[in-house]
Amino acid sequence: MVLRPEEVSSIIKQQIDNYGNKSHVEDVGYVLQAGDGIARVYGLNNCMSGELLEFENGIFGMAMNLEGDNIGCVLFRGERQIKEGSYVKRTGKTVEVPVGNALIGRIIDPLGMPLDGKGKIEAKKYRPIENAAPSVMDRKSVNRPLQTGIMAIDAMVPIGRGQRELIIGDRQTGKTAIAVDTILNQKGKDVICIYVAIGQKASTVAEVVSTLEEAGAMEYTVVVSSTASEMPTLQYIAPYAGCSIAEEFMYNEHKDVLIVYDDLSKHAVAYRAMSLLLRRPPGREAYPGDVFYLHSRLLERAAQLSDELGGGSITALPIIETQVGDVSAYIPTNVISITDGQIYLETELFYSGQRPAVNVGLSVSRVGGAAQNKAMKKVAGALRINLAQYRELAVFAQFGSDLDRATKDKLIQGERLVESLKQSRRATMPVEDQVIVLFIATNKYLMDLQVKEVRNFNKDFVKFVNSNYPDVINAIRNTGELSEEAESMLRKAAEEFKAQYSRTKQ
Ligand code: ATP
Ligand code: MG
Repeated sequence: MVLRPEEVSSIIKQQIDNYGNKSHVEDVGYVLQAGDGIARVYGLNNCMSGELLEFENGIFGMAMNLEGDNIGCVLFRGERQIKEGSYVKRTGKTVEVPVGNALIGRIIDPLGMPLDGKGKIEAKKYRPIENAAPSVMDRKSVNRPLQTGIMAIDAMVPIGRGQRELIIGDRQTGKTAIAVDTILNQKGKDVICIYVAIGQKASTVAEVVSTLEEAGAMEYTVVVSSTASEMPTLQYIAPYAGCSIAEEFMYNEHKDVLIVYDDLSKHAVAYRAMSLLLRRPPGREAYPGDVFYLHSRLLERAAQLSDELGGGSITALPIIETQVGDVSAYIPTNVISITDGQIYLETELFYSGQRPAVNVGLSVSRVGGAAQNKAMKKVAGALRINLAQYRELAVFAQFGSDLDRATKDKLIQGERLVESLKQSRRATMPVEDQVIVLFIATNKYLMDLQVKEVRNFNKDFVKFVNSNYPDVINAIRNTGELSEEAESMLRKAAEEFKAQYSRTKQ
C-alpha cells in the first residue's frame, strides 16, 4: 500500500482538530488589575456576561463588562487576597442560589451561605439568580386578595396576590413596619414570605428577624440579607437571588409567595457604585443608563400565573426611601412607573401620631380592587369619600369658627374615621374585624364619643361582636359579603354595645 504524504497530513490535521473537542480544556485567564472590588481579567475570550468566575483561594466574582481585550469582573468578597497576575477560571455557569423548602426559616446571604449559625443548607436544587419574567400568556389577572392586616391599606389600597405594590416614604416613616406586619399577617394563610434586606444596618436586620421569630413567622419565611458593610456586588444580586427563591415556590410548588425588597433605593446606589467602578458612563444623578432595567427586570418577575402553570403567585412589596418627600427624583419615579400602585407614607402624618402614616389621597392600588372582598368594598366605598370630604373641609375650618351643622358633622365624622384607621405595630386584624370597625365608623356610631376613646371603643366592640354575634363574623368570613341581614344584626349589636358602654362610663 502506498501512502501519499498529503493523505497522512490531512488525517493528522483532522485528528488535531478533533483533539480539542474530546478533551476538557479549562479556560484560564489572569488578573491584570484588582482593586475597589473590581478585577480586570485578561484571556477569557469565551466568557459569558454574568458568568461566575473563580479566582485563586476560592474567591468568586461575576463577569460584568465584556470588553475587547479584557473583562471587568466584580468580586463578591475577599478582594484583598487577589493579586495581579493570579489565575482566573471560568465556571461556565451564571451565579446561582440554593432554592426549595430547606431554606424556610433560614437567614442566608445572596449566594446562599447561612448567616444564622444553624449549619449548612441542605438544598437539592439551585436556580440562576437571573431569570426571564413570565410572558403575557403565562399570566392571569390578579383576583385574590393578599391581606396585610393593616386597615388603612386593606380598605383603601387593597393588594392582590401577584401584584407589585410600592411602599414609598422618607426615612423612619414606618416602611419596614408595614412590610413586616404584612409578613406576620400571613400566618396560617399558606403564603411563603421572603424578606430581602439590601444595604441595611445589621442591627436593623437583626431587629426584623427577632420580630419575625417572636411571632413565629420564621416558620414560613426566608430572610436574604446583604448588609451595608458588604460589597456592592452582594447588595446588587440580593433581590434577584430572593426572587429566584420565590420563583421556585411559585413555578414548581404552585404556592403563593410574598417578597419584600427593603429597599430598592439602596439597591440602586449599590449598582451605581459598581457601575462607576467599572467605568460605565454615568447619567442622571450619576446612575448608569440602565438603572430602569435594573428594577423593571426584577419586578416583572412578580406574577399571578395562569391555571395551566399551576396558578401560583409572587406578590412583590418593593420599598423606596425618598429624600424630604421628593417622589419626582430619578429612582422613585422609575419604580412608581413599574409597580401597580404605591403606599405613600408621610413624615408629617407619622409625627402627628397618625400611624401607619399612609397618605390616603396619594396612595393607589391599580389592580387590587378586583381582589377586594365584597364586604370590604361595601364599607370602604363610603370611607374614601368621607375622608376626602374631611380633608377638604379641615383646611377651610381652620379659618372660620362659624360652621353650619352639616359641616361640623363631617368634621367630627372625619376625625373619628382617621382615629379608627390608626393601628399599632404587630396588631394586624383579620378582614372580618376590619369590616366591623369600618361599618360602625362610617355609619356614624362613633359621633358622640371623644376622639381619644375611639380606638378602645372599636377594639372592645370587635371583641363584643366576636363573642356575642359570631354568626356575623362567620358569615363575612365564609361568604366575603356583608348581607342585609348581617348588616341589621351589626346595627343591633352596635346599639346594644353603646347602651352598655354608656352605662359603664357613668
Ligand atoms: P428606615 O428609613 O430607617 O428604614 P422605616 O421607614 O423602615 O425606617 P420603621 O423602621 O419601620 O421605618 O419604623 C420607624 C419607627 O417607627 C420604628 O421605631 C417603629 O417602631 C415605629 N413605628 C412604625 N410603625 C408604627 C406604628 N404603626 N405605630 C407605632 N410605631 C410605629
Ligand atoms: Mg426600614
